[in-house]
Amino acid sequence: MNKICSICKKRQAVYYRAYSGEYICAKCLNNVMEKNVKKEINKTKALNIDSKIVIPITHFSPSSSIALSNLVYRIEKQFKSKIAIIIPKGYNIEEIRNLLENKSDLFIAEINIIPPEKLSLQECIRFERAWSIKAAKILGYEFVFLPISRTDISLMIIDSLINGEANFLSESLEFMEYNGIKFLYPISGIEGETLVSYEFLSGINVKPLCLPYIKSKNVFYSIVGNRPELDFGSERLIGKLGNFLEKLKENRCKICAGFSDKEICNTCEKLNLKELDVKLSIVQ
Ligand SMILES: [Zn+2]
Ligand SMILES: [Zn+2]
Repeated sequence: MNKICSICKKRQAVYYRAYSGEYICAKCLNNVMEKNVKKEINKTKALNIDSKIVIPITHFSPSSSIALSNLVYRIEKQFKSKIAIIIPKGYNIEEIRNLLENKSDLFIAEINIIPPEKLSLQECIRFERAWSIKAAKILGYEFVFLPISRTDISLMIIDSLINGEANFLSESLEFMEYNGIKFLYPISGIEGETLVSYEFLSGINVKPLCLPYIKSKNVFYSIVGNRPELDFGSERLIGKLGNFLEKLKENRCKICAGFSDKEICNTCEKLNLKELDVKLSIVQ
């Protein structure tokens, strides 16, 4: 690519952001990502200057979790927030540690239930929430940050509605709270394509333990096609679902906090999360 960055107008661009039509250099891409995460965190107004945040290295997207950890670390450095990064034992701990900018407060999680090789993205999120709740409780932390992009949210909304699985709309919420634990998607202002490019340019590429899929992905791309700006319509869509969501929020799965008509949701039944057990140890 032989283009000058559209933002700083100085450096060589390394990435074309289709959503905004900008050519972006590595430094400005970094700034765009940090600004976006900052905006998302401020939006919820839930974080204090000394918040205690858990960032799990997820089974379905370890690279995005690492990118998220690094972005949040840079932003929160100026505050007194504590960030615990929790790595499931199935990963190569050294590999992940090398990619993390924050090398303190790293924990290894021994989780007695391993997800199957493939799982829908909504089920993946329920699983990550379930074990992260336990980890956060052990540490006495209140926040859990998950690496869900704007595109993931759009895909999940369409998928849940098309398949008549309204309860899976809980996974499309950028912010939710359950039993004193607050879940936030700090990279939900960034489209998937830009996130993936950012990870690639940062040299972060870790193989996931569980491959997430979206049933109706093709339907989504037949609507959105090569026009990622449409992706951002999902924010308005979820706003319109307002009252309907409020109703759904009343009934939650007691294990994963997802919307559910039963005390334990189908995902937690399927994965047998009643038996879920998490042990943490500090990375030396
Ligand atoms: Zn630039
Ligand atoms: Zn559940």
